Amino acid sequence: MTTKTAGIHHITAFVRNPQQTTDFYAGVLGLRLVKKTINFDAPEVYHLYFGDRMGSPGTIITFFPWADSRKGHIGGGQVGITSYVVPADAYDFWKERLARLGVETQETERFSERYLQFADPDGLRGEIVAREEGPNNDWSFGGIPADKAIRGFGGAVLFSTAPESTGKLLEDVMGLTKVGEDAGFVRYRAFGDLGNVIEVNAIAMAHGHGGHGTVHHIAMRAADDAEHAVWRQHVAAHGYQPTPIVDRQYFNALYFREEGGILFEIATDPPGFARDEEPEHLGEKLMLPEWYEKHRGEIEKNLLPFEVRELEEN
Ligand code: ZN
Repeated sequence: MTTKTAGIHHITAFVRNPQQTTDFYAGVLGLRLVKKTINFDAPEVYHLYFGDRMGSPGTIITFFPWADSRKGHIGGGQVGITSYVVPADAYDFWKERLARLGVETQETERFSERYLQFADPDGLRGEIVAREEGPNNDWSFGGIPADKAIRGFGGAVLFSTAPESTGKLLEDVMGLTKVGEDAGFVRYRAFGDLGNVIEVNAIAMAHGHGGHGTVHHIAMRAADDAEHAVWRQHVAAHGYQPTPIVDRQYFNALYFREEGGILFEIATDPPGFARDEEPEHLGEKLMLPEWYEKHRGEIEKNLLPFEVRELEEN
């Protein structure tokens, strides 16, 4: 049984407002809201999932919008920057689109690749990179042609308080390959073609603190439930303390924190987001796991309504 991950499954962050977040990730970035549900550990808070048409592993950015949360501070022990990959010829399209929609950007270069960096309305850091690899996303929204659309994650930049330990986790436990170092970051690569490039700061960074505008955790992929069970033993055998396996409806999950402070999850590819909604109608209704269904009325009353909407006339 393999214990190499294909790459990132999803990334989960704290924000304040569901409409503001939806306007940015659907309206500006053109991702699809593939699931509207609640935080299973805090049912007064939404859990919103955005991704490609089906919310494929490697494309899923998820949010807990919580109005009263404190402002976080991006720093060590977190995913610092989330990278989104677009087709090789789409970089200028995105530069022009973000400028037109009033999103401030900065350009930078690492490992001979150009990055278009931005912050979302809560201050979460993102960047766009253009690459050949990976399948195109066939979801088109907000006037973005499918052949220019975000395919999913290019990867993530981890901000670690102990980058050598974080690197060891990626290489020795997750099965990534070290590529090299550039511009203060060490690059590692997983075997998949989306969410497959993970970078870690070369020099230790001071702790950030959690709150809105920060990433809560990064989930890596397990192919199925059988592999997931092996992952749990594998992680524990390397001295980490994984949680029991938890049912997250759309995948199974286990969590552990590594020495650089970052909370990792391992999530199964199946069953995916079409387990309780038709593929054409993903994300349209508030979906609850059956153990919360009897409280639906009360849960809905506590959630702010919001909609997926176009930001420009097309
Ligand atoms: Zn997760």
